[in-house]
Amino acid sequence: MNKLELKENPTLRDYQEYVKILEIQRGFTNQNALEKCLLLGEEMGELFKSIRKAANLKTDITSNISSVNEEIADMLIYLCSIANRFEIDIEKAFREKEEINKKRKWI
Ligand SMILES: [Mg+2]
Repeated sequence: MNKLELKENPTLRDYQEYVKILEIQRGFTNQNALEKCLLLGEEMGELFKSIRKAANLKTDITSNISSVNEEIADMLIYLCSIANRFEIDIEKAFREKEEINKKRKWI
């Protein structure tokens, strides 16, 4: 089994490969894209909660709220896992979409 290690100066492809191995090693490969979307949504809620805490907004002090750093990382993991299920190269998709976005007019 491949060692789970993110190389120095990783590309987005490296992150996607890392998540692919992570899912094999932790037994998450049977989760489909829909399930991953639900999990991504949960992580978005956790991210928003951590941001609320960081902004000193009222939060439940009895609940475990992680750092914004951790929740951003969780979201990237799920984003990679969803992209992997559709065989989407995130860097390529980003570049292509940004070319579209650059042509938009913002007022
Ligand atoms: Mg989380």
